[in-house]
Amino acid sequence: MSPKIRELSVDGSAEEMRRLMTELYPICRSITGDGVRRTLEIIRQLVPLEVIEVPSGTPVFDWTVPNEWNIRDAYIKDPNGEKVVDFSDHNLHVVGYSVPVRQKLPLDELQEHLHSLPEQPELIPYRTSYYKEIWGFCLSHEQRGSLGAGEYEVVIDSSLESGQLTYGELVLPGESEEEILVSCHICHPSLANDNLSGLAVAAFLARALETAERRFTYRFLFIPGTIGSTTWLALNEKTAHRIRAGLVAANLGDPGCFHYKRSRQGDTEIDRAVQVVLRDTGEDHRVEDFVPFGYDERQYCSPGFDLAVGSLTRTPWGRYPEYHTSADNLELVTDDSLQSSLETYLEVVKILEQNRRFRNLNPKCEPQLGKRGLYGSLGGGTEGRDQQLARLWVLNLSDGEHTLLAIAERSRMSFARIAEAAAALLAAELLEVVE
Ligand code: ZN
Repeated sequence: MSPKIRELSVDGSAEEMRRLMTELYPICRSITGDGVRRTLEIIRQLVPLEVIEVPSGTPVFDWTVPNEWNIRDAYIKDPNGEKVVDFSDHNLHVVGYSVPVRQKLPLDELQEHLHSLPEQPELIPYRTSYYKEIWGFCLSHEQRGSLGAGEYEVVIDSSLESGQLTYGELVLPGESEEEILVSCHICHPSLANDNLSGLAVAAFLARALETAERRFTYRFLFIPGTIGSTTWLALNEKTAHRIRAGLVAANLGDPGCFHYKRSRQGDTEIDRAVQVVLRDTGEDHRVEDFVPFGYDERQYCSPGFDLAVGSLTRTPWGRYPEYHTSADNLELVTDDSLQSSLETYLEVVKILEQNRRFRNLNPKCEPQLGKRGLYGSLGGGTEGRDQQLARLWVLNLSDGEHTLLAIAERSRMSFARIAEAAAALLAAELLEVVE
């Protein structure tokens, strides 16, 4: 028999998540191309996602699916003929979507195509140019400073031609057509926290939910940032309203505390569920309002859709020094962070699955709990008292209006405690479900 979602456990997943990230880390991903395909193939070994390809040139609202970019090799040779920058050492060395080039040029001209970080001189920056046809290399500022005058040879063996935009989609049907969305971006090359951590949490959450009994339908999207969510929304415009709640998963492996960015609506079920989960952990966390900047929540929360989609991350994009540099590597990501990120996502799902309204069938004065074996069953102590109090809260607020989530908020008791109380009262026929 399939387990109930509320009974699921993801204990001990960190090691497997790290193994997945380690396998994916060296792949050169971008918003299109073979790196994305290979990435999706690897995730497919875990969960049966469908790979969807959308031809270049397809109009998607105000955008157009771009040409497909692939790269085989790239390097800079110094005046002595020595390779000083080599794509095969680190894929961040090439500006993403660089057009092919093969030429010799003096250092001062080469400089116009070089990118480095004077403030973080030992790191390689991450740069892309999707919609403007240029070429360029990224290198550490230290190395850049060591380049001597003379003629350099640059080679970028890439192609930018009509092809496909590729993304992965996994739908796990539930009793209800209403959907819970988990979306992550897969378009970054060798960057671990920004890109791979979100993808790992999404993949392992999907794997946990795959065999469970589901009330809702779950949709997981592994898509290139911005153009991927825009493309998905354009292709699924008619059914996107089925998304009842969603989260954009990113930056889930760094040691920072959780940050929740609310949906545009700000007070939907997902916003409240995440806040209760974070509250119940008792750990430091931040909750921030929606801003139309960030990851794919910008598209899901655009006014024409205005879906209840927030973003649950650890340190948000741009706020950690390793962000978009070669220091966003597998060492930045800790097993503890990955593990608790996955657990936190699962806790949110558990709330959504269990959140219902009930009606107290004995609303005139308190029912006598003792004769039903529901009073003082644990004897004294705070445990018994809390169990009791939770039952009284559920009875009191189950007027057909308050959800269990609302009761957890108002009582300041953990959602798990409130849900457990509701289950006991339902079994004792003191409650009925309000559909
Ligand atoms: Zn990024």
